[in-house]
Amino acid sequence: MNRRTLLLAAALLSGMAGAYTVKTGDTLYSIARAHGVTVVEVQRLNNLGGTVISVGQVLRLPEGASAVPTAPATSRTAAPNSPAAPTSPSAVPSPSTRSTAPGAAQTPLPPRLSAAELAPTPAGTRLSGVSVSAPEQVTMGDAFVLRLSGPRAAEATVRFLSEVGEDVRRPAEVLRPGGAAGEYRVLGRVVLGKTTPVVYEVRLGDEVLRARIPAAPLSQTVQHLNLPSRVSGVLQDAGRAAEERAVENAYALRSPQVWTRPFAPALANRAATSSSFGQPRTYVAGGAVSYHYGTDYPAPTGTPVLAVNDGTVVLAGKYPVRGNLVVIDHGAGLVSLYFHQSRLNVRVGDKVTRGQKIGEVGSTGLSAGPHLHLEMRVRGEATDPADWMNRLWPR
Ligand SMILES: [Zn+2]
Repeated sequence: MNRRTLLLAAALLSGMAGAYTVKTGDTLYSIARAHGVTVVEVQRLNNLGGTVISVGQVLRLPEGASAVPTAPATSRTAAPNSPAAPTSPSAVPSPSTRSTAPGAAQTPLPPRLSAAELAPTPAGTRLSGVSVSAPEQVTMGDAFVLRLSGPRAAEATVRFLSEVGEDVRRPAEVLRPGGAAGEYRVLGRVVLGKTTPVVYEVRLGDEVLRARIPAAPLSQTVQHLNLPSRVSGVLQDAGRAAEERAVENAYALRSPQVWTRPFAPALANRAATSSSFGQPRTYVAGGAVSYHYGTDYPAPTGTPVLAVNDGTVVLAGKYPVRGNLVVIDHGAGLVSLYFHQSRLNVRVGDKVTRGQKIGEVGSTGLSAGPHLHLEMRVRGEATDPADWMNRLWPR
């Protein structure tokens, strides 16, 4: 297996949307303004801890960024939210970025909420008949669970307010907890690239509880690769738009939770490679950082691919990048995706159970060696498959 080619495929799956090379006189602010995006957004996409940039540095830009990189900031009159802001004709659809509905015009992210709007409620704030527990800390790329218990837990709603202004699908969606008998849960997600605290808000009638969870970065160091420029050419495949629409439709599903048992591995007795979930990488010298949205498991062609849990097949077909792809909806906003298979054993609409064979390992799509690329997405955002395996819920 050619690891380099796997990485190349990963580059494509990570999305290499817009890029901008820093020129003399540029500041992070002028670049953001000229592209109709926020400084925070550019910082997050490029893993920048501050505002220091250097001439020649290549910055990744959001998919929705307008393509007027040389326009002086002062001559650009389009407001960030202007629907007339042009989209680059060379902009490449990314499997992994923006949260807009399929086919919708992409607009820059809204500003984050104010500090006051994100401020935790005073210690000791309680909701009548509902107690809330959350992890003490989360890590970038985590799935996690808010637990609501008590006689009125089913009536509460939850929003993750810190998602507003983040490059995330359906930020701060109003979520109703799922569960029964006074024990309810809402799934959370920490988008890759995020290092600011997660802020959640639980509402029950007029009562509000708001709190924050610190978010730690991933421990992996950035891999610096030098991949050929033809990578971007591959991204122009005409079938990509349909592929992205198909997966976005799957990400938008909000069916009831169907699993009742812990999640199980998709391949029996196979370990993941070092190109594991969340690995940050640059693909050209000095380039922008992007992330790996799944976990790769090398295995011989024909190795059975197993459903990680009960669910409904919502996609089963061949796509330019993901190859023979199965997507299973498990409910509660969680879908699992199985890329690059040599053959598929299920069809759209099939109900599958944990451990059921859904296909076989292969190397279809953008892949040079047989392996399974597994993704676990919470409301469309990639979470670490390791958070799920052998557990009923992430911690
Ligand atoms: Zn992969």
